Order: sequence, then structure tokens, then C-alpha cells
Amino acid sequence: MRFLVTNDDGIYAPGIKALAQTLNAFGEVIIIAPDQERSGVGHGITVHHPLRVEKVELFPEVRECYMVDGTPADCVKIAIQGLDIQPDMVVSGINLGANLGTDVLYSGTVSAAIEGVLLGVPSLAISVCKNISYLPTATYFLTRLLFELKTPLPKDGLLNVNVPALRQDEVKGILATKLGVRLYKNEFVKRLDPQGKAYYWMKGVPYAPASESDHDHVAIEQGYVSVTPIQFDLTYHALFSELRDSLQ
Ligand code: MN
Repeated sequence: MRFLVTNDDGIYAPGIKALAQTLNAFGEVIIIAPDQERSGVGHGITVHHPLRVEKVELFPEVRECYMVDGTPADCVKIAIQGLDIQPDMVVSGINLGANLGTDVLYSGTVSAAIEGVLLGVPSLAISVCKNISYLPTATYFLTRLLFELKTPLPKDGLLNVNVPALRQDEVKGILATKLGVRLYKNEFVKRLDPQGKAYYWMKGVPYAPASESDHDHVAIEQGYVSVTPIQFDLTYHALFSELRDSLQ
């Protein structure tokens, strides 16, 4: 089993180290990750300047490790299509901060995993809520999940895993969930730079306009690890039928 490991918090983030160490017990690990924090870049790719790929020795326990001055999606693309690495699975994370519901549309962590399935490799994204002190909970439940998955993931199989900010013994279990809708009440704090020009900092508090019991954020609030299967068909199928009929 060969894992291609990436993230969006950057190659120096503690989450990717914990992830690589965990996956080492299951097979060969190759890391390819951004050289800096790229959280929130979504599925962005680099098309207007060249990409630099540097082989580094940051993690002696893994087979190879590369640092890229691009996005998480760039990392997965160039690994598979540029460096000819052929992984059995792409694993992205462990992100510091939840990727629940509509977060997946902004998340570089999840986008790296989506890029994996676009290239025909089963993929998994994993995030831990709130802070770094719960990384051991995430690695414990990732290990359990890899053992407990009874059937191998299909080639377009993408799992989005979120781990609550709890100690391992406080977690109630692992639940299969659906993506909820998680929006943000954003506020833009306006400040002035030394030249007197205005600039803005965005901050936001998440809220869920409507919740169902099998939504991912509900599982997290109730103390479960949430595992959501994701596909990237964004077609609004019901509206498609109506549209087709009205355009006939
Ligand atoms: Mn991140």
C-alpha cells in the first residue's frame, strides 16, 4: 500500500507529521506538500507561473518527501502526473480546524483529496476540530477507520473525516454522515496601513441554518468522529429535469 500524503497547512505543520507517522504502519508513505500555509485556497491551481518542487529530508521515516511552492491541488497533480508517483491512496491532513459541510468548498485539505479522486485514486481528507492538542485523537481514530473499513474504497471514493476536539476516551464512536450546510457570519475589521490606506481582516463565526440528525456538524457536536462520503457532481438534478422540459 502506497500513500501519497499532503495537506494545506504546509509541510512544517504538526498535522502532516502525525499523519505520515500513522500511515507508516500501513505501508509506504510519500509526502508532497505546500511550502507554506495554504488553508482556504480551495481547489486553486497554479497556471501562470512555474512550480518548484524540492526534495527534502524533513521526515526520515518516509520514503520520499517533496515541498512545492503551489497549492494542495497542485501537489497531488504534479505528484501523479509530473513525478509519476502511483499511490494506492491520497490522504490529506491532518488539518488543524474542522472541514464540515460547505467548508469543503473552501478547503485546500479536501480539495487535495478531490484531486486524488479526479485522477482515479481513492482519497481521504482528515481534519481535527479546534486545536493541535487533539491530534492524538485523530491519529487513533484514523488507525481504527483504516482497520474497520470492510470494503476497499472505489477509485472515486472520497471520505471526509472530522475528529471532535475531545480526548480519545471521550469520543462516542465513528458515524457515517452527510455534508451539512455550514455558513459563516463574517465580519470585516477595517484598519489603516502606515500610509493611511484601508485594509480589511475577515473573521467569521460558523452557523448552521438547518440541521438534520445525520449531518456532519451534528455528529461532531455530539462527540462522534464524522465520516462523510463525497462526490463532486454538483449538478442540481431536479432542476435539470425542469430546465430541460422548459427549454424544449
Ligand atoms: Mn488548513
